Amino acid sequence: MEVLTTSPVSSADLMELEDRYNAHNYHPIPVVLERGRGVFVWDVEGKRYYDFLSAYSAVNQGHCHPRIIKALTEQAQKLTLTSRAFYNNLLGEYAEFITHYFGYDRVLPMNTGVEGVETAIKLARKWAYNIKGVPEGQAKIVFVEGNFHGRTLGAISASTDPSSRKGFGPYMSGYVVIPYNDLAALEKALQDPTVAGFLVEPIQGEAGVYVPDDNYLPAAHEMCRRSNVLFVADEVQTGIARTGKLLCCDHFGFKPDVLILGKALSGGVLPVSAVLASDEVMLTLKPGEHGSTFGGNPLACAVAMEVLKVVADENLAANAETLGKIFRARMEDLKQKRPDLVTSVRGRGLLNAIVINDAEDSDTAWNICLAMAEHGLLAKPTHGNIIRFAPPLVMTREQLEECCDIIAGVIGGWK
Ligand code: PLP
Repeated sequence: MEVLTTSPVSSADLMELEDRYNAHNYHPIPVVLERGRGVFVWDVEGKRYYDFLSAYSAVNQGHCHPRIIKALTEQAQKLTLTSRAFYNNLLGEYAEFITHYFGYDRVLPMNTGVEGVETAIKLARKWAYNIKGVPEGQAKIVFVEGNFHGRTLGAISASTDPSSRKGFGPYMSGYVVIPYNDLAALEKALQDPTVAGFLVEPIQGEAGVYVPDDNYLPAAHEMCRRSNVLFVADEVQTGIARTGKLLCCDHFGFKPDVLILGKALSGGVLPVSAVLASDEVMLTLKPGEHGSTFGGNPLACAVAMEVLKVVADENLAANAETLGKIFRARMEDLKQKRPDLVTSVRGRGLLNAIVINDAEDSDTAWNICLAMAEHGLLAKPTHGNIIRFAPPLVMTREQLEECCDIIAGVIGGWK
C-alpha cells in the first residue's frame, strides 16, 4: 500500500490526492477552496474569488453567514440527531414555521434535494391511489424533457440527458416525458386518467437556465387543477429567493400543490430538504411508509429556521431581482460587443446564463471559466457551451458591477 509521507498543502497536491482516491464522478474547475465568507471564497494559496455558482444555489445567503453559523454551532452543542423514533423539541416549531412561511398545511423533512423529489413522487402516487382513485400500480408522473431532478434511479429515470441516464438502466416505470414549455403536449398527457402528478422545475437550472414562456407555468397549473393532477414544483434550485421572488412560482401568481425545496434551505451548511403539501396529500402517508434517519433532525430544524429568517430580514429576493436586471443588461451589452461569442443571455433574478456560440463539445466556455478564475471569479459551464452565473444573493451592487467588469473583460478580449 502506498503511504503518504508528505502533508499535501498546495492546490496541485490536493487535486492530485483527490484525483487519486476519490471517484471520478465530477470534473471540477481546478481551484482548491478552503475558506468562504459572504460572496467570497479563498483557495489554499490565499487567492480570493467571487463565487458565481454558490454551490449550485445552495449558498444563497452567502458563505458562513454569521447568523446561520451561530444557529448551527449553538444547536450542535445541544442535540444534533434523535431520529424520528422519538420527538425532538425543534421539529414541531420548525414544521409550524416553515408551513406558515410558505403557506402550506404540512411539511415532510428530508435531507438532499433528490430525496425531496423522491418523496414528492411517492406522495403523488399515494395520493393518486388513495384519493384520486387510480388503480393500484398504474399511477403515472409526467416530466419534461431537459429536466434535472438529481441522481437517484427515480430521478434519472425521468432524465433525457444521456450523461445522467445512460448505462444505469433498467429505469422506473410509470413515467411520461413530454417537451418542456409545450402546453399542447401537457394537455394531451393529462387526458390519461391515471396521471397523478406533473413534476417540473419552474426554470430549468442544470439544463442551462431555460426560462419558459410567461404563460406556461400558470396555464400548466390550471390544466392540472382541471384534470385533478397534482402540480409538483421542484424548486430545489430556483426556490428561496434565487430568482427574485421567494419561490419562482411566485412570479406567476400560483401556488404548486406540492413544493420541493432543498439546497439553500440550509444556507449550504448541511443537507436539508423539505416537501410541502396540503393535509389531503400529506396525510395519505402513514407511519412506516416513508422516512429518513436524518430528516427533521434538530440541527437541521434550527438552521433552516434561521436561514429563512435571514432571507426575509435581508430582503434577499428583492436584491436578487434588482441585481439580476443589472446583470442581464450588462451581459446584453457584452453580447452586442461580442455577437460572435455570446449568442444568448437568459435568466431570472440571480439565476442566469450566457450561451457561448459553440458546439456543446467545444472547450471555449471551459477555457473562459478558467480565465475568469484567474481574474478572481468562479463559474462553471453546464452542457459544454452554457455558463451559469448564480452568485450568493447577499452581493452588493458594487460587487456585482465589479464581477460584470471581470466577465466582460475576459469575454470582451477573447481571441
Ligand atoms: N432538483 C433540482 C432542480 C436540482 O437542481 C438539483 C440539484 O442540482 C436536485 C433536484 C438534486 O439536489 P441534490 O443534489 O441536493 O440531491
